[in-house]
Amino acid sequence: MMAAGQMSANVSEVFCSVQGEGPYVGSRQAFVRFTGCNLKCSYCDTSVGNSKSCRFEELPGSGAFKQMENPLCAEDIEKMVASYKKIHSVSLTGGEPLMHADLISRLNIASPLYLESNMTLPHMARKIRDKLSYVAGDVKLLPLSSVDDMDQHFEQTIECFRTLKTTKDRDCFCKVVVTKDTDSDDVEGIIGAISGYISCLVLQPVSQKELLPDQGRLIGLQERLLDHIDTKIIPQTHRMWGCL
Ligand code: SF4
Repeated sequence: MMAAGQMSANVSEVFCSVQGEGPYVGSRQAFVRFTGCNLKCSYCDTSVGNSKSCRFEELPGSGAFKQMENPLCAEDIEKMVASYKKIHSVSLTGGEPLMHADLISRLNIASPLYLESNMTLPHMARKIRDKLSYVAGDVKLLPLSSVDDMDQHFEQTIECFRTLKTTKDRDCFCKVVVTKDTDSDDVEGIIGAISGYISCLVLQPVSQKELLPDQGRLIGLQERLLDHIDTKIIPQTHRMWGCL
């Protein structure tokens, strides 16, 4: 019997804006931000905790939010998203949206689905892979206080990319947030293992100024990775125009 919790999920916000990262930057999207995450990244700037209600921005860009009581079912999310016009896709983000794969598998949304994931839950990825048109998959490197076994962490990451790989119907690309502490060998090792599953790699300099990598090192890392896959350096753009 399926648990009741699998039919609903806590969502922190639903709004319409533009994608701020990666190769689809600037594309108009609906965003569904799920609560909860299975990792604890040191540079995390997202509130992942549970909230009693979901903020729903009825008029895109208005900053006026209606409060919807959590948890939400698939129909609640479908109705909110259907109110947005001319969107490129619906970003399923978080937190970690794959924790809510059971609910996502029930979503009936006409627009293409764009998953933003930490790519560590391959068994959940399997449940929704055929529904996804875009996968923006992160590779999470050290330090990860929530991960004891880094070998297992990387195995799960590789398995998740294999599960959600680029096909004729799905674009899967990878993002690595680069900090001053990022080990270039670690990045090259994991990208070498997943390069056959992705269309491109995005190196994203961390948003916190005190953690920024040296510019020369970042450019050097791009040069190394170009041996494996099309590699772009694209910073987060929302911060540039003060929109978060
Ligand atoms: S995976 Fe994303 S949401 Fe989760 S802790 Fe890391 S940065 Fe934050």
